[in-house]
Amino acid sequence: MVGAFVLLCLGAEPLPPKVTQAVASQMASLVRDYNHLHQNPELSLQEVKTAAFLAEKMRALGFEVTEKVGGTGVVCVMKNGQGPVVLVRTDTDALPILERTGLDISSRAQGKNPAGEAVPVMHACGHDIHMTSWLGAATILAQDKDLWQGTLVFIAQPAEEIGVGARAMLADGLFTRFPKPDFAFALHVDGTIPHGEIAYSVGPALANVDSVDITVKGKGGHGSQPHRCVDPIVLGAKIVLGLQTIVSRENDPFQPAVITVGSFHGGTKHNIIPGEVKLQITVRSFSDEVRARLLEGIRRTAKGEAIAAGAPEPLVEIRDHEFTPALINDTVLATETAQTLGATFGTDRVKVRAPILGGEDFSRYGRAGVPVFMWFVGTASPEAVAKAKGPGGVAPPSLHSEFFAPVAQPTIEVGVKSLVSAVLSKTKKK
Ligand SMILES: [Zn+2]
Ligand SMILES: [Zn+2]
Repeated sequence: MVGAFVLLCLGAEPLPPKVTQAVASQMASLVRDYNHLHQNPELSLQEVKTAAFLAEKMRALGFEVTEKVGGTGVVCVMKNGQGPVVLVRTDTDALPILERTGLDISSRAQGKNPAGEAVPVMHACGHDIHMTSWLGAATILAQDKDLWQGTLVFIAQPAEEIGVGARAMLADGLFTRFPKPDFAFALHVDGTIPHGEIAYSVGPALANVDSVDITVKGKGGHGSQPHRCVDPIVLGAKIVLGLQTIVSRENDPFQPAVITVGSFHGGTKHNIIPGEVKLQITVRSFSDEVRARLLEGIRRTAKGEAIAAGAPEPLVEIRDHEFTPALINDTVLATETAQTLGATFGTDRVKVRAPILGGEDFSRYGRAGVPVFMWFVGTASPEAVAKAKGPGGVAPPSLHSEFFAPVAQPTIEVGVKSLVSAVLSKTKKK
């Protein structure tokens, strides 16, 4: 075993020096692209200008570009002789958040939410860093075809934040109209890791994400006469408490699971017992079995508490169209690619970490039969991370925070180099 491990490590090659130089010479232009993308964020399913911006750049690099794949998705193919088909994915959408970083490049963009209301928009999940790193890697590989052989499929995927973009691109023929990948790579930023560092998981990396809506039904009336009503607020509260025991009492403690009631809405006034209450719940798991058990437990608990209260049956809606499956990094691909990343950045900067219960629809390419690997690239200043570990320290702003502010240039540099390292680990010309 040890012998095999040493051999694998010896096989991992760092980035050639000419690539490191090429990345350095691209940095000024990449930071300009990043600033542009950061200041022009678009909400999920509305990534029209973003897609056009990326498509134009990729066409200029010589990729065959197809737009409007699965809505606003872009597929860019470059063939360079015999060899594996390697997919590199970026996501493109932003979030309805008012940026409060105070940076010169702060977004002032507005968009429309699904209800048609004007909302501020911000790249608070770092998809602008992903796009810039993706463009940088495409530039390096397109400009030096002596480095690699095979087929590159660079995709710009919309609507990651609402969990529908990967599914839409697959349904629109991503793996049938275009070369089917042998491997798929993506990165995601992480606001808790210092820039210059990479974290990854082998096997399960991110969770199954389900959204559940419950409409708790009662019988409304005057707040002074509860005996003439069925109070859905008290029933809703019992359901919330009942849900807590699904994870603590019904689930195997060695199987990760989370049920969080993130929203509880009901009522209009002190002295009115409302007719109904609405709950919104996020449900996280890794295995299909645990997922099924949690969802069944939610249905049963809601129904059972309503029976106990003498209330009408609640409406439990499991929002299947928003389901994001767990991201399972391919064991061999993750292990080998991480060794290559270790050779490029130093093994002390490429660290294994435990899975987390966030979600990412990059998982869908894995579910469609392609070995996938996603790694996390740090965005925080090392000083801020060190300070946070001290007494009374406050962690740097996380993803989805209005204060999320990656240190752009070094983060993009690691982003580009890690993507190129990963692609070359499979396509390098011998
Ligand atoms: Zn996000
Ligand atoms: Zn994201």
